[in-house]
Amino acid sequence: RREKDLEELKELEQRVNEFDPSGATLFDELPLSQQTVIGLKQSHFTTLTAIQKKSIPLALKGKDILGAAKTGSGKTLAFLIPLLECLYRNQWTQYDGLGALVISPTRELAIQIFDVLRKIGRAHTFSAGLVIGGKDVQVERDRISRLNILVGTPGRILQHMDQAAGFEIGNLKLLILDEADRILDMGFKKTVDAIVQHLPRERQTLLFSATQTKSVADLARLSLSSERAEYISAHEKA
Ligand code: ADP
Ligand code: MG
Repeated sequence: RREKDLEELKELEQRVNEFDPSGATLFDELPLSQQTVIGLKQSHFTTLTAIQKKSIPLALKGKDILGAAKTGSGKTLAFLIPLLECLYRNQWTQYDGLGALVISPTRELAIQIFDVLRKIGRAHTFSAGLVIGGKDVQVERDRISRLNILVGTPGRILQHMDQAAGFEIGNLKLLILDEADRILDMGFKKTVDAIVQHLPRERQTLLFSATQTKSVADLARLSLSSERAEYISAHEKA
């Protein structure tokens, strides 16, 4: 069984390498794990939106992304699909600590992201948690030490990073900043900078925003690796 898994993994890597990132219209055409394919099918997602078309193929190839597209254009899947695939292809297990961190400006948005993650990630075995405050810090802390994927708000995430022993982030592969413009509007710039300081430099970063502002570009410059960043914007017809 293990051998079969490794063979599948090798085959998937090859599909990702050979994949032409300009062409995909359907999720079925993307080089994805069976687990993600199942999650997408069961959630009734079949066709990529414009921002998903432009960003998912590049993110699957390991690029850093600064993606801008208006509210309602499908940015959540644009980062959650690459997230699941990144951990899957790294054969992430419960012993590897935190693999992906998703920062959201508000509790409500963090909960929405988490719900989508649970749906499309249902066939994967990763453990995921929400850190949005409102719960006992100690209770959250005990759970965090076992998480592979963390979705949360900036203040609470930093609080855990500053306080928690057992918050294993040295292996982290992927940082995602959702609604970067709102994160900045809400005054979280310093908090996010401090979080980024805690993270390994060798990682992938996906940054999404509804608008492109100078401050978003500044944040991108600080958090993305400039050699491999792609700047994407998608304007869909209403
Ligand atoms: P944004 O973050 O850009 O505001 P969301 O990710 O919240 O957008 O998606 C907006 C809505 O579009 C959600 O209801 C979501 O389920 C739906 N959606 C996203 N991607 C697709 C897709 N590929 N096909 C159909 N519906 C989608
Ligand atoms: Mg969104």
